[in-house]
Amino acid sequence: MSKPYYMIINGEDVGKDLPVIEVSNPATEEIFATVPKGGAKEAVEAVDAAYEAYGKWSALSAYERSERIQDWYILIKEHTEDLAKTMTEEQGKPLAEARGEINYANGFISWYAEEGKRIYGEIIPATQQNKRLFVHKQPVGVVAVITPWNFPAAMITRKVGPALAAGCTVVIKPAGQTPLTAIKLVQLAKEAGIPSGVVNVVTGDSKAIGNAWLEDTRVRKLTFTGSTEVGKLLMKSAADTVKKVSLELGGHAPSIIMEDCNLEKAAESVLAAKFRNAGQTCVCINRVYVQESIADEFTELLLKKAKQLKIGNGLEEGVTIGPLIDDSAVRKALEHVEDAVSKGAEVKLGGKRKEGLFFEPTILTNVTDDMQCMQEETFGPVIPISTFKDEEEAVRRANDSIYGLAAYVFTENISRGIRITEKLEYGIIGLNDGLPSTPQAPFGGFKQSGLGREGGHHGMDEYLEIKYISLGL
Ligand code: ADP
Repeated sequence: MSKPYYMIINGEDVGKDLPVIEVSNPATEEIFATVPKGGAKEAVEAVDAAYEAYGKWSALSAYERSERIQDWYILIKEHTEDLAKTMTEEQGKPLAEARGEINYANGFISWYAEEGKRIYGEIIPATQQNKRLFVHKQPVGVVAVITPWNFPAAMITRKVGPALAAGCTVVIKPAGQTPLTAIKLVQLAKEAGIPSGVVNVVTGDSKAIGNAWLEDTRVRKLTFTGSTEVGKLLMKSAADTVKKVSLELGGHAPSIIMEDCNLEKAAESVLAAKFRNAGQTCVCINRVYVQESIADEFTELLLKKAKQLKIGNGLEEGVTIGPLIDDSAVRKALEHVEDAVSKGAEVKLGGKRKEGLFFEPTILTNVTDDMQCMQEETFGPVIPISTFKDEEEAVRRANDSIYGLAAYVFTENISRGIRITEKLEYGIIGLNDGLPSTPQAPFGGFKQSGLGREGGHHGMDEYLEIKYISLGL
């Protein structure tokens, strides 16, 4: 029996009479829950509620909002285990990773609950004695939040945390594959005393919901994480009502392994940055460039570590690689491996799909830039390794992409490290660090990887309007 979940609009469960979307567990492919198949009608109702709630919520002091948001943080913390289990069931990532994501996601809630108290204005010196120039910062208004399935909690909190702290109200559409974590988070917001209508969640037909929000002049901002393709589409539609837009899109992260790196650290970081979430993160290392002189040694070390990974249902103890999200994800990983092999790559590990939606952790060598895996995001557990001669070549090949989200560099030579990071056209750089994301730092991409930043005080600015007041005395 699958369990029904509902949308939450204006504090009420909505959609009991609607057709449903089935939610399945990618590890077993069993359907275990349903959510309502909402559309434009529910999307507009959610905006009605968020618009209505905006007046009161934005009028509270930052300190009052902070208290409510902190209460939400406490409830999420108390419900970590349940949220993590739900996440593993709908998304597939190992339970330990799901717990990690809840903690990470909750970090945005607590950090922004505090940061909301530090939204400062400015006083600018005037040219005339009889004038005073003030700059205020105010919330943008109702925010539409559209999120993907790979981080069902964190992609929501890093948008909703700053939005609420700034005084905005939100309408959320989670990915169809992972709506349950989102619904549970919004239920907890309600229990925390965040007023009805401030946080709403709508499930269903993504196009109909998205279009309704983009057409609505009351929605002042769109924040989206997902594919570059859909991001471009939404950005075009947002132009009609000139909404503010933040986009966190695809990546194609290179990792440059210099001969003077700490090999152990580099291999461990590549392993963590690639196989986390079975390779389904936008900052996942997607291309490994290793300096010729250490290529064999590095590959051997990586192989040794990768062989210890355990593939299986994320709810089982000790599993480190779960299933991919769906069949097309598995097919894409396979296609990338087959394409690479047909062009001369060597499979050092894995390379095959397993029963169900599982794909073996894979390491490829003899990889060249004409292979698909070096051109686009695999979003699966595949590490292509290519060699380079010198720093100049590594940087040039790393930058040769339409994407610019994350890049990684491993070297123990600090001057070289700084030199390379300065040349890389990427928004996030892990210098001897495979996991750079953290709530207090700015996350976002150059080029076609997106617009705007999430996290840190930069992430707060995305939800604020600047108001300039010129006072004539
Ligand atoms: P992914 O490849 O991560 O699934 P998508 O860009 O397809 O990325 O989806 C990210 C989010 O955008 C999901 O919530 C999805 O339902 C939503 N989405 C997809 N297409 C549209 C659309 N045309 N309008 C609005 N939202 C969309």
